[in-house]
Amino acid sequence: MGRLFLIDLEENFYSCKNCETPVALANHLLSRDYQCPYGRAYLFDKVVNVLDGEIEEPIPESNSTMIHLFCVQCQSIVGFKFVLAYDEFRRYREGKFILARLKILVPGEYSNMPALEDV
Ligand SMILES: [Zn+2]
Repeated sequence: MGRLFLIDLEENFYSCKNCETPVALANHLLSRDYQCPYGRAYLFDKVVNVLDGEIEEPIPESNSTMIHLFCVQCQSIVGFKFVLAYDEFRRYREGKFILARLKILVPGEYSNMPALEDV
């Protein structure tokens, strides 16, 4: 966290939509079936090149408290980290990460376009 990792470009990775910095490897994808305040989101076991936000925010629709994750390169919001799940059923999410589909590029996708929503 907080350090720019060099990633083998042969690997499939998800990257920041704003600056194309790799933020997660396809190997660490757990689920594509998530929702976050920015819409559809992917759940990851591990992420790279992101900074933790400082404020824990309760997100009622997810029954969790989360913190924002920022791209280490351009400081755009890329998703959230689950800090606390309110029920036993969702406990497995704690310490895991979701990246908003709107904020990232999937493997093979490239863009010079700015993110659709400003930070
Ligand atoms: Zn970025």
